[in-house]
Amino acid sequence: MSVECIFCGIVSGSEDASIIYEDDLVVAFMDIQPVNPGHALVVPRAHATYLADTSEHSAAQLMRVATQLVSAIQDGPLHGEGTNLFLADAKAAGQEVFHVHLHVIPRFSGDNMTLRVDYDPPPNRSVLDEHATTIASALQKEA
Ligand code: AMP
Ligand code: ZN
Repeated sequence: MSVECIFCGIVSGSEDASIIYEDDLVVAFMDIQPVNPGHALVVPRAHATYLADTSEHSAAQLMRVATQLVSAIQDGPLHGEGTNLFLADAKAAGQEVFHVHLHVIPRFSGDNMTLRVDYDPPPNRSVLDEHATTIASALQKEA
């Protein structure tokens, strides 16, 4: 465990946090800078910088618990009009805390969160097919 990692500190109990849920694989707690009230984070208990460093079991539990949180939040007083699950994997993707974490964010139309995309013209089907093949063959090697 890295002593510098704030989320490892939360997992170990040495850092303050508003814990929602914990089990042997993941911990869920409130984000200290919520986009909207109810904004939660789910993290693997074992330190992993990036998603690819996370064990398959922890990654699966991350998603399972996030899915349960979506329902728990949406069924209660902190519900939004919708929800975003968001995971920033690496700096270029907006990651600021380098311990894997999945955001569960209640959303409202017109709220202060934006993910702006300036789309290029869409590629033609042959390019999409080529990309699908590239990824599919890499996927086979992962299995
Ligand atoms: P990002 O790495 O950009 O996906 O986001 C990191 C998130 O962690 C931000 O939303 C922060 O508000 C949140 N955060 C940072 N430190 C803490 C902390 N000590 N407790 C809870 N949330 C935190
Ligand atoms: Zn950590």
